[in-house]
Amino acid sequence: MTADTITTADTRIDARWLIPVEPFGVVLEHQAIILQGSRILAIVPQTEADHHYRTRETLTLDQHVVLPGLINLHGHTAMSLFRGLADDLPLMTWLNDHIWPAEGKFVSEQFVTDGTRLAMAEMLRTGTTTFSDMYFFPEISAQAAHDTGMRAQICFPLMDMPTVWGSGPEEYLNKGAELIRQWQQDDYVMPAIGPHAPYTVSDGPLRSAVALAEDTGAAVQIHLHETAFEVADALKNTGKRPLARMAELGVLSSNTQCVHMTQVDESDLLLLKQTGAHVVHCPESNLKLASGFCPVQKILDHDINVTIGTDGAASNNDLDLFGELKTAAMVAKAVANDAAALSAHRALEMATLRGAKALGRDQEIGSLVAGKLADLIAVDLSDPYLQPVYDPASHLVYSNHGRAVSHSWIHGVPQLQDGILTRIDVPDLVLRVNEWRKQILS
Ligand SMILES: [Zn+2]
Repeated sequence: MTADTITTADTRIDARWLIPVEPFGVVLEHQAIILQGSRILAIVPQTEADHHYRTRETLTLDQHVVLPGLINLHGHTAMSLFRGLADDLPLMTWLNDHIWPAEGKFVSEQFVTDGTRLAMAEMLRTGTTTFSDMYFFPEISAQAAHDTGMRAQICFPLMDMPTVWGSGPEEYLNKGAELIRQWQQDDYVMPAIGPHAPYTVSDGPLRSAVALAEDTGAAVQIHLHETAFEVADALKNTGKRPLARMAELGVLSSNTQCVHMTQVDESDLLLLKQTGAHVVHCPESNLKLASGFCPVQKILDHDINVTIGTDGAASNNDLDLFGELKTAAMVAKAVANDAAALSAHRALEMATLRGAKALGRDQEIGSLVAGKLADLIAVDLSDPYLQPVYDPASHLVYSNHGRAVSHSWIHGVPQLQDGILTRIDVPDLVLRVNEWRKQILS
């Protein structure tokens, strides 16, 4: 081997197992992932890496499976500060009597700063490297994600009623357009448009949201068909299913993410397929609020993209996407009455490459391929509850929880090392969170 065949790079990660997600369903062994700057330079067998790469640091993960960082496509991050505040209630009672009043009283810029940091700490600790947020003061959560170095789609809220963030649709749209302008070129932040739901946003603001999306290329994320009541009520009031109304208003496109979709009939499948809109499945929120069941396998069978999200911590009550994957796989099998529904590999794809596709970023993130951005995680499989290892993909979905995630990198930057967060001061965060607890209780 001559010196000129040796490439120098930043980091070499030796992985016992590797699930690149692309190609689908593959588990590789004894691979070296070579990182250079923000990107993956190469993925080669370790013996080949010995001959061709010299790196500043080498990390040996000989009990670990390495995979793309997870993408949590729906949440309300600052609501982590309301975790466990109101449980065991149906959606409208939970919103009207508990969440909306608490939000009216406590949500502020500081609340969003601290709540977003709490959510990011939990997500980073459990393997998420990209998340989507829909909450008040999106400029604050955008800054928090950027400062921490976490990738985030930040959807500014849009609804008819006034809130702490604005007086109504016109102000939300003006502030939202400014958010898009400010963050659109950022490495980490993807600004987007977040009309809350068909029953909280009227046609005019929805049309303006579509115009803004077309002007800027920003994505649209909306809660849709969360409950049977929502669909029945809309049919009574407008004569249309909410999804049909969204289609008529131009809301549905390949740049649109429909969150929940527990009510899906043949006409809905046709609209989703025709428009290329994406579905964001949030099984634990749907279970906890008794909202219904999204027929994931049926939607996938129609060649419609399905991704996954935790929803906010107040209706879940955690942001551990590995836990969400297990629930998703279990529920999909029960709903389809078919044990083959939503396989482990398909579930992992939902939390990675399919999420990236919904964000329009599947050329950059969502799988481990040379040239893509270095967003990856390692899961330590040495613990007795993950032994023995026949198939790491099976363990990741059916036996794992997020606490087994040991390492993560975003944009090539280490975020988690041996289970320790590198960019968030956890003791300081816990102090602040407990101050909020005292305030909210009093
Ligand atoms: Zn939600």
